[in-house]
Amino acid sequence: MFVDSHCHLSSPELIARLPEIRAAMRAASVDQALCICTTLDEFERVHALALGDADLWCSVGVHPDEEDAREPTVESLVALAALPRVVAIGETGLDYYRLGERSVADMAWQRERFRLHVRAARASSKPLVVHTRSASADTIDVLRDEQGDAVGGVFHCFTETAAVARAALDLGFFISFSGILTFRNADELREVAAFVPLDRCLVETDSPYLAPMPLRGKVNTPANVPLVAARLAEVKGLPLERIAETTTANFARLFLPTVPRSSSVS
Ligand SMILES: [Zn+2]
Ligand SMILES: [Zn+2]
Repeated sequence: MFVDSHCHLSSPELIARLPEIRAAMRAASVDQALCICTTLDEFERVHALALGDADLWCSVGVHPDEEDAREPTVESLVALAALPRVVAIGETGLDYYRLGERSVADMAWQRERFRLHVRAARASSKPLVVHTRSASADTIDVLRDEQGDAVGGVFHCFTETAAVARAALDLGFFISFSGILTFRNADELREVAAFVPLDRCLVETDSPYLAPMPLRGKVNTPANVPLVAARLAEVKGLPLERIAETTTANFARLFLPTVPRSSSVS
């Protein structure tokens, strides 16, 4: 019924509890999840999750916050993206939140790494999982410049303005909402969620981070994605079933275009 479009199941605090988490997901009708890769060294673990479970998928990419990580090449990303169960390139993007002493000019390495990911996505015809924080204008610029609209993807854990959402939608991207949508101080984000067409919305946990209300501050798991969906249902004034159905169909449309839809065989 529900899909968690972005989780870090390979993180130590989650992978140690995998059987328990998978059971909790089934109990909460969270049928599938996309396990996100953040470094090339992590890829093997993320990929093993997807290979070992028909309801888990994975991505390949190097997170913009992983400053000291092994740099990918377009060729290395394309080769890993061609492996079974790898359905996306990312997470990639730009994050200027932790600039510290540095200026935006010092983050050229991040922009270059992001460009490589967009090129790899185009070369492998796989959608992008985009992370953007305090860097929306440059994120949109790189996507335009590298013709990211040719593959599309998702702006995950969206916390930007309606204008940024508009620009992302115009590039053919989906917008994914996380537990932040449930936070008390997130009225502006809820206005953005009201504005994004439902057929371009996804839901995610970004677990183990960002547990939705009323679990805020706890270790998050994909089993909590219905709490995000419920808040989206409230914002949209629609039944939860409709949100579940549409976000699940959106996930399949974006990430699984070559996988037959189970509903078509029933
Ligand atoms: Zn992220
Ligand atoms: Zn993430």
